Amino acid sequence: MPTFAPPSAAPLLAACPHCDALQQLPPLTHGQSALCVRCATPLYHGSTYAPLLPVALVLTGLLLFVIANSHPLLYLELAGRMQASTLLEGVSALFQSGLWLMALLVLFTSLLAPLLVLLALLCLLWPVLRQRSPSHAAAPLMRALHHLSPWSMSGVYTLGLVIAIVKLRDLAFVSPGIALYAYFGMLLATTAAHRTIDAHTLRRMLTLPNSHTPLPRLTPASKPLPPTAHQAGLLRCACCTLLLRAPTESHFQPACPHCGSRLHARKPGSLALTWALMLTAALLYLPANLLPIMTVIRFGQGDPDTILSGIQHLIENGLWPLALLIFYASIVVPLMKLIILTFLLLSIRRRSPWRPKERTTLYRLIEAFGHWSMVDIFLISILTAIVQLGTLSTIEPGTGATFFGLVVISTMLATHCFDPRLIWDALEQHA
Ligand SMILES: [Zn+2]
Ligand SMILES: [Zn+2]
Repeated sequence: MPTFAPPSAAPLLAACPHCDALQQLPPLTHGQSALCVRCATPLYHGSTYAPLLPVALVLTGLLLFVIANSHPLLYLELAGRMQASTLLEGVSALFQSGLWLMALLVLFTSLLAPLLVLLALLCLLWPVLRQRSPSHAAAPLMRALHHLSPWSMSGVYTLGLVIAIVKLRDLAFVSPGIALYAYFGMLLATTAAHRTIDAHTLRRMLTLPNSHTPLPRLTPASKPLPPTAHQAGLLRCACCTLLLRAPTESHFQPACPHCGSRLHARKPGSLALTWALMLTAALLYLPANLLPIMTVIRFGQGDPDTILSGIQHLIENGLWPLALLIFYASIVVPLMKLIILTFLLLSIRRRSPWRPKERTTLYRLIEAFGHWSMVDIFLISILTAIVQLGTLSTIEPGTGATFFGLVVISTMLATHCFDPRLIWDALEQHA
């Protein structure tokens, strides 16, 4: 009995996760994308709805994951001494230095989350490929996939590896190991699998309908703004994109019948939580920049480096592009996130109707690029593991790195807690 749904010719009713606009979307062919009519957020991608390609990509990703973790990532050679380092040794070096919080962060974002995302995708798609009913664990797997995906940072870790190679060139001879290519291959396979399977496509493949309740018919937009899901009395599941009629009793919090996520018209406590996490990040930003993040010891001597003094050393060594990259990732990106979130929170507080589309774009920008600040944390983990050449040269991590890691986590959580639909709610109040 075939269990995956063929592409339907009927238009799809969808609500935008960023502005709540309710819209009829045309059926898309493979390679096409639908953007929100109001804020231009990508809503879903056309797919062949065939599970073979994503399953093949996930299996390739898992195979490359095993290779990436069983071979050295980098080789370092100095004065006849050779040092090799694996991903787990990078984590272990941080544990041994007493920075267990940072070690856990690196372990989770570079290794566990990418692995769990691939495994969750495989467990969800395998029954579809075998033309069987979805697994009994489909609901928790869908939730796990939704919550883990933002923390899977193989792309940022790969950038950290490339920066480590460039940075170490003035210290020793560095060459990439087979694991580096495998890790990069795993990143490509995972990205391609995600591209073919978004939340909407996954739900269609698992033969889960768009809604369990009759949905309203939309008339052609005659108002300046299309109606929102909230105005139409609908709730959108953030995990699987299902639309469900909101219950009449306001105290009753429904759960999504497909994935089990709690459904809310707006994220609960969004503004207060975002303020709290953002202020935490702002406070941690000071020690993250004032305390040393690492110390390079050569022939028994070395001074601790803060983020800024590390950038200064890169400039002195003529590594301008690298200095700029670290400056943007470690100084500019966290600061921009704090400034943009403050601006968005204040504009909502003032119920400002000013340029909502542009403000939503700002939010999408920090949502998409915020985690790239982790590159400095990954770089420290890689350097600490590989530069262990005794009296010749050693790199030790500093406590500033832990504070910096906490800044990245706090700003990511603040971005996650912020509900951009509140930007658009002010327009309804002004209308
Ligand atoms: Zn939108
Ligand atoms: Zn759901």
